[in-house]
Amino acid sequence: MNDQKQKEVVLSGIRATGSIHLGNYSGAIQQFVKFQDDPDVDCFFFIANLHSITEKIEPDLVLKGTRDITRVFLAAGLDPEKSTIYAQSSIPELCELSWLFNCMVTVPTVANMPHFKEKKDLMQSRGTKETAGLLTYPILMAADILGVNGTIVPVGKDQEYHVELARDIARSFNSKFGDLFTLPAASIGDFIPSLQGSGKMGKSSGGQTIAINIAADELKKIVLTAMTDPARARRTDPGDPRNCNVASYHHIFSSTDEVTWAEAGCMNASIGCIDCKKVVLKNLEALIAPLRERYEEVARIPDKEIDEILHEGGIKARKIVMAVVGEAKERMGLPFF
Ligand code: ATP
Ligand code: MG
Repeated sequence: MNDQKQKEVVLSGIRATGSIHLGNYSGAIQQFVKFQDDPDVDCFFFIANLHSITEKIEPDLVLKGTRDITRVFLAAGLDPEKSTIYAQSSIPELCELSWLFNCMVTVPTVANMPHFKEKKDLMQSRGTKETAGLLTYPILMAADILGVNGTIVPVGKDQEYHVELARDIARSFNSKFGDLFTLPAASIGDFIPSLQGSGKMGKSSGGQTIAINIAADELKKIVLTAMTDPARARRTDPGDPRNCNVASYHHIFSSTDEVTWAEAGCMNASIGCIDCKKVVLKNLEALIAPLRERYEEVARIPDKEIDEILHEGGIKARKIVMAVVGEAKERMGLPFF
């Protein structure tokens, strides 16, 4: 019997819809870097350029974004020698697998996904109609994951339902057509809320974001003008950290002592919101400064070299996906004649 431990397969992607922000970094990319250094896992990280066009199609922006995210991956510490880095568009078989899964998932299942409802409302508020691609994108995401037989999917909390869907699809496929897919599980990173009130920090949600290479003075402006608990109208008014996103930032970016200091100071009004924000600012600047510096270096890498990384990674990942999709089609009675 083969008692060798099966390697975990870690897979995740980022949409090419704008500048990578703190939410993408803390929720996802920071986890990618950690997994990459684990010898017991194979890592696949991709630029989800097919997912980038569900709301609007801007060819120049998606192409630029694809290269830019690849640079951010490098700046964050991903290494193409250790991780397979590719663009989703390099693997046409993902769309094929997505079609097979489309025929296994009901419309209400995708129409009731919280993400679809949110994005649909956003599109309608901008005077556009939701596309069929927006509705079915979690199914393409299931193909992204299952196409390489991914077992761990490092994502932000907003993507948890979609990994669950991929798991359901894998289970359903296995029971109907025989075991082919390993059931994937999400690895959830820190959730970064918007500093302007409610909701998450997001590339296309229209609010302010903290780019991972943001200039120090811009970062300062965003943090110092962040919304806090409305109860703290005057410095002498006590507040409730549960109603303040700056407090959530403390929990993620500050030391235990700083969290205790900030929460007690807020509740007994011994500190002002600016005092509290200054500590978050200090900690964020410490996190972002090296990223900013490395991003400046990778920004100088010519497009040709970036494309080469994506090309190599695409070939490697495609080989794996092709084998999986070929097998799935055979089992479904759909051979390549
Ligand atoms: P868009 O608004 O275009 O969907 P986005 O900012 O949500 O962009 P994605 O490319 O959709 O970014 O997501 C990439 C990864 O970053 C996903 O794993 C997602 O869960 C994670 N992520 C996105 N925003 C946040 C956030 N505010 N906090 C934590 N994780 C996040
Ligand atoms: Mg998103």
